[in-house]
Amino acid sequence: MKFALGIDIGGTKTAIGLVDSDGRIISKTSLVTDLTITPEQMVGRMADAAMALLSEQGLKPGDLQGIGIGAPGPLNTKLGQIAEPPNLRSWWGFPVVEAFRQHFTAPIVLENDATAAALAEKWVGAAKAADHFVFITISTGIGAGIYSHGRLMTGATGNAGDIGHMVVDPAGGTCVCGQRGCFEYIASGTAIAREASELLGRPVTSKEAFELAFSGQHPDMEQLVSRVFEYVGVGCVTLINTFDPELLVIGGGVSQIGAPLFEAVSSYISRNALNPSGRNTPVLPAALHQDAGLIGAAALVHISY
Ligand code: ADP
Ligand code: ZN
Repeated sequence: MKFALGIDIGGTKTAIGLVDSDGRIISKTSLVTDLTITPEQMVGRMADAAMALLSEQGLKPGDLQGIGIGAPGPLNTKLGQIAEPPNLRSWWGFPVVEAFRQHFTAPIVLENDATAAALAEKWVGAAKAADHFVFITISTGIGAGIYSHGRLMTGATGNAGDIGHMVVDPAGGTCVCGQRGCFEYIASGTAIAREASELLGRPVTSKEAFELAFSGQHPDMEQLVSRVFEYVGVGCVTLINTFDPELLVIGGGVSQIGAPLFEAVSSYISRNALNPSGRNTPVLPAALHQDAGLIGAAALVHISY
């Protein structure tokens, strides 16, 4: 059996795990992404945690097939660097691959976290049989991984699929990126919580917003949720018209809401996708949840993409 070290770096926590060549997590741990220390120091902590996982399993760094790193974009996989992710400010421009090379001799690969999660869905998840699919994650933000013609489409610098900043409704508010009405500004978990809080004049989570909408007692909240579902439909139709996928896979915290989202999105697609076969594109829930990033990072090592 061959082992990869998967590292999924996030703005709040970093997951680290040993994953075998069947996609099984042998052992894993998680660290708080401490933004008060330098990224070099944080990488040192990750390396220590990885060494501990290896020794618990009676393995040595030399037993690693490779190290896969998933990180939030924008990044630059050509240079092995983090670029400008909004919630990892102190890491901007950080040569993360080089930093890991100080600790390991195994090959190191870096990809955008949503791209890595798409590869995980292809490897052991909902898209095993697909040669053409798009994985969409709707959580704090919105991102995607594009798999086309049996390969990941990563782009020149690893930033392909950053659909969170595709403009869906120019009448929407101004996004962190400077554009108005970006997909994630109007349809992410953060967007739902922000708009629900404005409606009720108190802090409301996206989960609570959904509960209120489905209670039948809050027409305003119902309207908000159906508008968001329609925006997700708009985003999906654009992806279908652009990439002609066999299927779409939706993951991320907001997708936990389940059937109401999937039904609304499928209905929008059936009415609005341009080509007739596109109107029947299946929209499946992601098979992997909390561990998608970790398995995806390891997939970068285990399978060719
Ligand atoms: P992250 O963005 O850190 O990857 P998640 O994928 O868990 O985290 O997404 C967090 C977002 O998803 C939040 O906006 C949260 O309110 C929302 N969310 C999480 N679980 C649910 C749920 N069961 N139903 C609806 N929204 C949820
Ligand atoms: Zn934007």
